Amino acid sequence: MTLYDLEQGEKGIISKIRGRGAFRKRISEMGFVKGKVVTVVKKAPLRDPVEYNVMGYEISLRINEAKLVEVVTAKDVVISNPLINGFEGTIDENILKTTLGEKSKVIDVALVGNPNSGKTTLFNYASGSKEHVGNYPGVTVDSKQAKFKLDGYTFNIIDLPGTYSLTAYSPEELYVRKYILGHLPDVVINVLDASNLERNLYLTTQLIDMDIKIVVALNMYDELTYKGDKFDYLNLGKMIGIPFVPTIGSKGKGIPELFRKIIEVYEDREPSVRHIHINYGKNMEESIRKIQELIKLNKDLTDQVSSRFYAIKLMEKDEGAHNALSRTKNYEVIKEVTRIEIEKLETRLKEDSETLITDAKYGFINGALKETYQPNTFKKRLKTDTEIIDTFLTNRIFGFPIFIFFLWVMFQATFKLGAYPQDWIEKLVALTGQGLNVLLPDTLIKDLLVNGIINGVGGVIVFLPNILILFFFISFMEDTGYMARAAFIMDKLMHKIGLHGKSFIPLIMGFGCNVPAIMATRTLENRNDRLLTMLINPFMSCSARLPVYILLIGAFFQGNEVTTLFTIYAIGISFAIFFAVLFKKTIFKSEEAPFVMELPPYRLPTFRTTMRHMWNKGSQYLKKMGGIILLASMIIWALGYFPMNAKKMTEYDQEITVTESLYNTAISSLPSGSAEYGRVTAEKNEAISRLEHERDSYRQENSFIGKIGKFIEPVMRPLGFDWKMSVSLLAGVAAKEVVVSTMGVLYQVSQNDNVESLQSKLQSAEHKSGEKTGQPVFTKVTAFAYLMFILLYFPCVAVVAAVRKESGKWKWALFMVSYTTAAAWVVAFLVNQVGTIIVG
Ligand code: GDP
Ligand code: MG
Repeated sequence: MTLYDLEQGEKGIISKIRGRGAFRKRISEMGFVKGKVVTVVKKAPLRDPVEYNVMGYEISLRINEAKLVEVVTAKDVVISNPLINGFEGTIDENILKTTLGEKSKVIDVALVGNPNSGKTTLFNYASGSKEHVGNYPGVTVDSKQAKFKLDGYTFNIIDLPGTYSLTAYSPEELYVRKYILGHLPDVVINVLDASNLERNLYLTTQLIDMDIKIVVALNMYDELTYKGDKFDYLNLGKMIGIPFVPTIGSKGKGIPELFRKIIEVYEDREPSVRHIHINYGKNMEESIRKIQELIKLNKDLTDQVSSRFYAIKLMEKDEGAHNALSRTKNYEVIKEVTRIEIEKLETRLKEDSETLITDAKYGFINGALKETYQPNTFKKRLKTDTEIIDTFLTNRIFGFPIFIFFLWVMFQATFKLGAYPQDWIEKLVALTGQGLNVLLPDTLIKDLLVNGIINGVGGVIVFLPNILILFFFISFMEDTGYMARAAFIMDKLMHKIGLHGKSFIPLIMGFGCNVPAIMATRTLENRNDRLLTMLINPFMSCSARLPVYILLIGAFFQGNEVTTLFTIYAIGISFAIFFAVLFKKTIFKSEEAPFVMELPPYRLPTFRTTMRHMWNKGSQYLKKMGGIILLASMIIWALGYFPMNAKKMTEYDQEITVTESLYNTAISSLPSGSAEYGRVTAEKNEAISRLEHERDSYRQENSFIGKIGKFIEPVMRPLGFDWKMSVSLLAGVAAKEVVVSTMGVLYQVSQNDNVESLQSKLQSAEHKSGEKTGQPVFTKVTAFAYLMFILLYFPCVAVVAAVRKESGKWKWALFMVSYTTAAAWVVAFLVNQVGTIIVG
């Protein structure tokens, strides 16, 4: 709680002072020091300032100042110490002091750095969590928070998205900047990739402008030593007033030291900490100073954010700074002076002001590195493993086929390798169903368990191995850095469809799951490019659709499994391209912004990292199984079970009993073991299972789900789908795997006593009514039309929600839903019509 939250007459002890250095200094000179008792003398509602008593003096603070001072009060003591709960009256100051000890030992730290510098790795190591690390820009699109303890201090640590700069150019940059300025973390950890100092330090120069407490984690220190470079980081730290701590995030080295250094900095005990100014040259500095004077008139703002920072940003023509300052009283003056200064500078130096600032920053970095950094020139040719690999992988001619080959290997493994464990799980599921069938008495619960849950969830769980293998490949591509190459290779091609290489990463991620893929579009600077990438993402067939493909391909395209699967994915990609071009020509006409495609060095991920990464995704799949798929299976089962026509059911059951006893009398007169005996027994079994089948079909067709299916059937009939297929599609809107579980429930009607797999049930399914009675429901043509529909139609609700959130508008989510579903219908229709003609 802050000083401002205290009521009149209330007392608190100062536990932390936020805001920037200059503010902290000023306020501590007034007596607001950590550990001092403050009492609120006078606080009127809505009145600014508030009067406080500290160390016997009465001092008034503005609301915004008071909000930056954190205090511990009697309330905190009661919360943290339940023994004295309900205690009224004054609490002993000693107790307050102990609580203060705990409270003031909470340090908020934020990880800031270039993409791929190892922020998430450090974050995971420090907090013991398992966030996704990846070797390409844009893995962290959202911030992750964790809490951990060291040396009696509690660290609240946040992993921010990777950025190269802090201009308000890309969403990540804006996010990081807003976070630092809005949340005022106590210490910012600037994670540097030691193997690429020059570029990484660019961000550091911007943090320096912000005048905040920084500790540098000199990460990938192993690579620096491996290359044989010499870097006097202690000296550089002194020069720029920021302590440097070497770390090897992937091995956890240097991380305790890093956080101990943070404690030192937080407690103001670190001697190397010093706020320096980067020199932007005489003319620029003069302009900055003029603007700064004007900004400084707004104390509320400058207590939190450095006026120099804003002044520099204004000279850089930064929109974010203009927005932040537009609320100030003298914004018009600031704006006008900025305009004049920029104009003056640009005419004098014949260069635009942003470039001047960037050049000055690089000059600063070069100067700093010249004195402290000696790259190993002797060994230079040896370190270019990455370059050697890249001559092949990103080659103009070979790159593309190699990439296609990798994709092909991925699908091959997913299907062929996955078939073995898939078979084991399938057997296990069947055995469980069989076992329960025998063990349990015939009740509603048994029906729910066997026909609802085991058929539904079991039908989906068998695909877990395939999903894990697919994720293994995606993780491996991300971790090694190949994903970034894929983007690079695709860049040219992507330009042809109006996108660029950066859109490619979200699209590839879409093969895993569209939801994180849509979030990953945040790396795109241009809003139109972002929307476009989002809209075509569902055509990147996600892993949830894979079970449906495998089911149907296994049943109807035996011998051509991999080719068919590959074709489906390829058709999906073609549709993405088609709609990208179409949308680019119609709704998203825009100019393209130039940008740098970067190629991070290749890294061989440890087997453990990739496995863990794969498992993170796989376990999400399992969670889905225990959640939405379980629920959907139960609902679908119930909709298929009710309403029960008890009379009709009893009639069927009676008929079964009568038939059975009739046959039994006939059999009993035959000598057991004779051919005749065997024939009649078989006849009996067949007659009974036909009756049971009729009974179950009757029940299903007259159930709620049968009614829903019949209702939508007219729309689906031109596509060749029966009502069960239509209902499965409808259920798949919740999650694509539900299509499989729904089919598991709907086609479960057993035709003879041995338990069959869902695949063989589909193969033998027949039309029950209409002109096609007796014909198989699935031909190759219907199966393919169905596959096309699944590929293209309505992305699941989670994706719709993600699009709504990321685009900020329902409009786009609804648009996506309608155009994809329309495309699905048209394509399935064409496949069915044309296919039927060809097949005859
Ligand atoms: P972030 O996106 O900046 O958070 O970076 P990540 O944490 O995702 O790391 C990118 C890659 O660098 C991963 O493959 C890590 O395993 C690897 N990595 C992280 N720290 C180190 C390090 O100190 N040395 C080496 N050699 N690799 C590292
Ligand atoms: Mg990250």
